[in-house]
Amino acid sequence: MKNREIARIFTDIANIMEVQEGNPFKVRAYRKASLNLEGLNRDLAEMSHKEILEIPGVGKDLASLIEEYLSAGSVAMYEHLKESIPAGVFSLLAVPDLGPKTARHIYDTLGITSLEELEEAAREHRLAGIRGIGPKSEEHILKGIDSVRRGRERQPLGKMLPAAQDLVAALKARAPFGRLEIAGSIRRRRDTVKDIDLVATSPDPLKAMDAFVELPQVREVLMKGGTRASVVILDGVQVDLRIVEPDSFGALLGHLTGSKPHNVHLREIAVKRGLKINEYGVFRESDNVRLGGESEEDVYRILKIPVIPPVLREDQGEIEAALAGTLPRLVCLEDLKGDLHVHSKWSDGGHTIRELAEAARQAGLSYFAVTDHSQTLGGARGLTLDRLAEQAREVRAVNEELADFRVLHGTEMDILPDGSLDFPDSVLKELDLVVASVHSAFGLPKDKMTARITAAMRNPYVAIIAHPTGRILGEREAYQVDMEELLKVAAETGTALEINSYPLRLDLADRYVRRAKELGVAIAIDSDTHVKNQFDTLSYGISVAQRGWLEKKDVLNTLEASALLKRLAQKRKV
Ligand SMILES: [Zn+2]
Ligand SMILES: [Zn+2]
Repeated sequence: MKNREIARIFTDIANIMEVQEGNPFKVRAYRKASLNLEGLNRDLAEMSHKEILEIPGVGKDLASLIEEYLSAGSVAMYEHLKESIPAGVFSLLAVPDLGPKTARHIYDTLGITSLEELEEAAREHRLAGIRGIGPKSEEHILKGIDSVRRGRERQPLGKMLPAAQDLVAALKARAPFGRLEIAGSIRRRRDTVKDIDLVATSPDPLKAMDAFVELPQVREVLMKGGTRASVVILDGVQVDLRIVEPDSFGALLGHLTGSKPHNVHLREIAVKRGLKINEYGVFRESDNVRLGGESEEDVYRILKIPVIPPVLREDQGEIEAALAGTLPRLVCLEDLKGDLHVHSKWSDGGHTIRELAEAARQAGLSYFAVTDHSQTLGGARGLTLDRLAEQAREVRAVNEELADFRVLHGTEMDILPDGSLDFPDSVLKELDLVVASVHSAFGLPKDKMTARITAAMRNPYVAIIAHPTGRILGEREAYQVDMEELLKVAAETGTALEINSYPLRLDLADRYVRRAKELGVAIAIDSDTHVKNQFDTLSYGISVAQRGWLEKKDVLNTLEASALLKRLAQKRKV
């Protein structure tokens, strides 16, 4: 989909206009349109002119830019605009907290045109005194530069997987390919990813390579040969494409999928069996006779090991488990029957309970819990006791209308900084499901934060702790909390922990999920969706669960609604 590319161009346009102190209404219009394009759940390329005009914030002018990009692969107005400011100023805009105007002042005053120069100036306190730079700004700018560099190193899976899938679709449409697969840590579904690795076969490798470097996403070609090429796409992400003979495809796919420690371990086993594995295939050591390599299964079959799913290939015991025949039967998306964390219009969501129920049913679920925010979270229109009671009536009404779908009445209740809860037990008792979470005072010391969350777990009505570590990938580190203690108290009190599937959270992280399983803590895989079209993000939560070795029985919401309620009642009774 080109949606993201066009959204990015609109953001760039807004930034450049702001640097040039252009019309603020226009700046805002481009920003708003950019956001709406990002959130669009349809491919712009498949929409009619009339439908494009119906996208909020897209008028005639912006629609014509969108159509220009779709047909020509570029936007002339944007290309001109880019040339109108010094190239370096553009790179400064990537720094969080450094607005376009301040970037412009820094350029005008000190002639700074790169992150390196900006870093030096901030360290030497030469930025102080420039318009828009406050006393603490230099510190913030240094932190911002750090995060830009980190961002260049690893990006969230939720951004990189769709980008990789778009590249695959674009390549297939433009050149003849036999097989074409995403490899690397994206295939292993790591929560953050450094670059995109593609492996392919093609009856016409030269044509395939030409198509690759000419993709509209490509900003820079780093290297291009007959069978491999590297490019940089939007946002500075590197993409490598390797084209191989069909008989080596599986071997190379496994090699590039990794992880390295997994492959090293496989090779050790191979050596013990008189075999040799490399990216070209599996060979007999004694006479170099090739035994296989066309498919990835070949490699495992020849080693006499069951095929290990990519999500487990971290050399964390999966090879031993495979040899012993004890690999887990990983939970999959089809196993999920419901979603236990959903926001509606009642708080900060965008749709009614009825609309959400219809969308969830279409996504294959048979129930969800509506869990709007609690009273303390005023900014998110948290529900007062009165509105919660009113919402209960609506839930009942929706359930009466829907024959084959069930809405549970829940809450996402704030755990206040002192560990007390936002609603009294007399209210919690009436709800089907209580999800509790932290939305404030993220900076508490570790012992206080741990005590705060474990206090909530000890409440008999708290069923699930949502986004247990509070991290937002690329934006906010997890708060300080003793995870081992948290997991132990969860086990002790029968409280479930959530894998929040929102692509920028993926919180709980996979390593804690695996520890939770060891300790017998149940996991809920939730979307935390605020709109009706994001139930599909549950697939990201499933990936995290799989990386944590979870099976169907480990996941609370693989139960049907009635079985789930029985299960929740156990904690309430104790
Ligand atoms: Zn939350
Ligand atoms: Zn939420």
